[in-house]
Amino acid sequence: MTPAPEPVHDGVLRVTLPLPTRPGHVHAYLLEGDDGWTLVDTGLGLPDAGERWAETLTGLDVRRIVVTHMHPDHVGAARDVRDLTGAEVLEGEVDYAQCRLVWGNPEWPKRIAAWFLANGVPAAVANELLEVGFVYAPFIRYAEEPAALVPGQLVDGWEAVPMPGHSDGQICLLKDGVLIAADHLLAPISPAVGLYPESRPDPLGDYLDSLERTIELDARLALGGHGAAIEDPSERARELIEHHRVRLARTAASLSDDPRSGYQVSLTLFGRDLKPAAQRFAVAETLSHLERLVLQGAAARADADGLVTYTAA
Ligand SMILES: [Zn+2]
Repeated sequence: MTPAPEPVHDGVLRVTLPLPTRPGHVHAYLLEGDDGWTLVDTGLGLPDAGERWAETLTGLDVRRIVVTHMHPDHVGAARDVRDLTGAEVLEGEVDYAQCRLVWGNPEWPKRIAAWFLANGVPAAVANELLEVGFVYAPFIRYAEEPAALVPGQLVDGWEAVPMPGHSDGQICLLKDGVLIAADHLLAPISPAVGLYPESRPDPLGDYLDSLERTIELDARLALGGHGAAIEDPSERARELIEHHRVRLARTAASLSDDPRSGYQVSLTLFGRDLKPAAQRFAVAETLSHLERLVLQGAAARADADGLVTYTAA
């Protein structure tokens, strides 16, 4: 069963696809142009993704596919839709490099598991990544050798606007005050902003800068990858800045002279009662806040015997 694309703005259709993990759905968007349609994001590469897209796109001439960022629920079915439509795939260069590094690299599950261990995560939680790494692989069918999506480039009248933070290479699209926001701006959930190995050093700093630029853009509508349309994007950006200000303060308050790992701090911030996958998200999110505090001079990082710890500075 595939719900029909739903009009959400002039010339913009929203396609809501299932996601087996939280938040249970992901939105892709179809943008109408003079010569056909631009599809933004592709959903997770579930086994029936190709059939689902064939049904959804019946009668629509898709000329290009924009991948906003390399997370599985956005890039996962890119190859299926490209094969189906013959359309060109556009993806930012930073993003595609990370996409290959993570999903095109059989060594990655080991690399990231070791990194979580170094941040104090218990072996059982870190090592589960080695198993799920292989379970997820078939659902991430990214398109190889995409055309480069360059910041500032116009894609059928939509401007490519980089919004790093949720992921380093995330690119949104903007036209006439309408922002196709990917996972940069969401409501009611807050976009995850985590630190990961091989990522930019200060994802939360990047994110807060992107939120400031969002306020400057003064868009009148943001359409995100999950949840509801956002009628006041600047106001939502302000709320998210405040959300992280509070979390930064709580993170700083959890530090003392006694060295604590990112995992230990995450237990203070997010509690212990989380499944392994949620625990890892919590640790990555905690680390992005700890690293921001280090850059602000409010925390210090030490690395001894393969364990990374933080103290108040
Ligand atoms: Zn997403």
